[in-house]
Amino acid sequence: MYAINHAATALLIKKNKPELPLWPLLISVQLVEIGWVIFNYLGIEHYSVTTGKLHLDFLPYSHSVFSGVLAALLSYVILTPGFKNRKLAIAFAIGVLSHIAIDLIFHEHDIRLFPFAEHPVWGLGIIKYPLVNFILELLYGIGCWWYFGGNKKLLAVIIIFNLADLPTMFASGDALNPLKLYPFILPTFILIQILLTWYFVWRYARQKPVGTRSSN
Ligand SMILES: [Zn+2]
Repeated sequence: MYAINHAATALLIKKNKPELPLWPLLISVQLVEIGWVIFNYLGIEHYSVTTGKLHLDFLPYSHSVFSGVLAALLSYVILTPGFKNRKLAIAFAIGVLSHIAIDLIFHEHDIRLFPFAEHPVWGLGIIKYPLVNFILELLYGIGCWWYFGGNKKLLAVIIIFNLADLPTMFASGDALNPLKLYPFILPTFILIQILLTWYFVWRYARQKPVGTRSSN
């Protein structure tokens, strides 16, 4: 799943725990992806371009089910005593788990159960069907916005970032060659998307929906 819709997941958590600040929730839903970016920069994980298609291939440390659960547990353990806020710790752990759960639906067969074992490996593979992928992600993002009760600017952010993902979703053939030559391009592109979607979702989700502003 693309950055904007992982970010939109934070809205679901925020709606259920309105007293919690949004920014840690935005970090939680992308913690796994930040790990992927760092591991790609370090050459520990890698993607590939084969038969004119982009494959995420090797991401066992950031994106295994075990690592997701471990990251959620560690987050919970660290946040509970540190900030003395068990509610935040639980919400953060749920955010971390949401990332792996959603990626299991969209990714190809590349999410392992354990980081050091090749099998079992899962992924429903919606990413292989770009149009279906786009429609489902857009509907999911809008669904999160609707559940949250966001304003029109937040809706615009979700739609615009989803539209901006179309070229990547449909990318194929020789146009992907630069990604082969320069392996830093994809993690940098994803990192920029994460940062931008963090900012814009955080900025516009803090504003109340139009019409409810007068109360405060
Ligand atoms: Zn991911």
